[in-house]
Amino acid sequence: MDDQATGRNLPIDNPLMLIGGELVESESGRRFASIDPATEEELGTVPEGSAKDVARAYEAAAAAQPGWAALSPAERGAYLRKLADALHEQAERILITEVIDTGNTIAKMRGDVGAAVSQLTYFSGLGYEIKGDTVPATPGNLHMTVREPYGVVGRIIPFNHPIMFAAAKLGPALMAGNTVIEKPSEQSPLSASILAEICAEVLPAGVVNIITGFGREAGDAIVRHPKIKRVAFIGSVPTGMAIQRSAAEVAVKNVTLELGGKNPMIVFPDADMEKAVPAAINGMNFAWQGQSCGSTSRLFLHADIYDSFLEDLVGRVKAMKVGDPLAEDSDMGPINNKGQYEKVLHYISVGKEDGGRLVAGGKRPKGKAFEKGFWIEPTVFADMTPDMRLANEEVFGPVLSVFKWDDLDRVIEIANSVEYGLTGAVWTRDISAAIATAHRIASGYIWVNGVGAHYPAMSFGGFRNSGTGREEGIDEMLSYTEEKAIHVML
Ligand code: NAD
Repeated sequence: MDDQATGRNLPIDNPLMLIGGELVESESGRRFASIDPATEEELGTVPEGSAKDVARAYEAAAAAQPGWAALSPAERGAYLRKLADALHEQAERILITEVIDTGNTIAKMRGDVGAAVSQLTYFSGLGYEIKGDTVPATPGNLHMTVREPYGVVGRIIPFNHPIMFAAAKLGPALMAGNTVIEKPSEQSPLSASILAEICAEVLPAGVVNIITGFGREAGDAIVRHPKIKRVAFIGSVPTGMAIQRSAAEVAVKNVTLELGGKNPMIVFPDADMEKAVPAAINGMNFAWQGQSCGSTSRLFLHADIYDSFLEDLVGRVKAMKVGDPLAEDSDMGPINNKGQYEKVLHYISVGKEDGGRLVAGGKRPKGKAFEKGFWIEPTVFADMTPDMRLANEEVFGPVLSVFKWDDLDRVIEIANSVEYGLTGAVWTRDISAAIATAHRIASGYIWVNGVGAHYPAMSFGGFRNSGTGREEGIDEMLSYTEEKAIHVML
């Protein structure tokens, strides 16, 4: 595909879906466009999957599942490693596609295929952990539990890390003996079509099925399919709630949700400022245009360090280079899509209306390169108070809210006052204060003197409206199994 506007060549010719081992068009023949967020030009089209396509995918996945589950854990693990190797071989092709399609900068995006490869490799070795217990429930008899796969499972993913989520998240479901129907985001669907090509080559037919399409049709069809009992979703809170409702209208289902965040970073006066200031920028994920669920988008600075920290922070944020996501020296690209861009602009005006002090960004960067596209400068609001809407609601954009604190009980109360509870960060040299504060923050994943990183085998997930269920560790694989108790009377 040729992107006329930028002269960039997309290394994918005719993106298709994957059903039953075949690369296919949608049953209706309809396709929809993916838009380059840097230029607003059309990059190309992908099939618009429908409920009929999901039904076809279900039949293929159901037919493949008994054979897949009958393989030994070692054999399934070997397939997962083949998939990881094939992704690794095509890493450059995926990277270029992904950078153009998402607007995420190439320097950052380079890690995403690697993260998918290492997660697939991690899960490929976990098959023998799908084990049960024996319980001495009665003397002389044998009471045991075994874990069985659900069968066909559904996965629905968001736009921000398309290939990482699409590829890595196959691992735990497949390892547990399920076959999968997966739907990427309609906003950045192109890399999933490369994944479809790879899966068609390395996996048995029907084990993975990929349906590109819109949430309200293809996504909803997965959620409402009466025979898909296990659905895993990553996305926003409103969609997660809609999915729980839709699923409940059809059947009793196991739905796990990895949702949004408005995550606090609390900086004590004794923190190592040399490290904490850049950490506040990294934690906000400006480099992903703020489009990462774990972003520490609420920064709480102790009054003693507020002015000096803020000055240093604002200087660094203003020095960030917004530019072509394919350029190695760009610190920040465009927002992923028009709807998200408008949401970011909306929250910037809400921040101003509610009395936040705009100290960096807040507008489109100047210059010819930024006349089209979903561009915004990295933005910081200071002197935020908890009554403001921007202080409470997830923007999922490069907008950091800074608060001043001097009472620890009160700052923890404010940190916990939003509907979310995904991540949190505590910065202090006092290890007792750090651990006590980490315990008091009502979130599922806390860093002490750190931000942003996910660690191998450590489960990730949210409290409150940030979700239900845990991913990335062994719990994720076990969540794709149902436990059965067997009682043997001897
Ligand atoms: P979104 O909720 O708009 O869409 C996510 C996916 O759901 C897309 O594939 C979409 O097509 C599908 N969808 C939409 N409506 C649906 C419906 N009614 N039924 C079934 N599927 C439907 O989210 P987004 O804008 O793509 O992603 C941003 C959100 O994702 C943010 O809130 C972010 O915090 C969250 N997120 C969370 C995590 C996490 O691990 N907790 C990770 C990444 C992103």
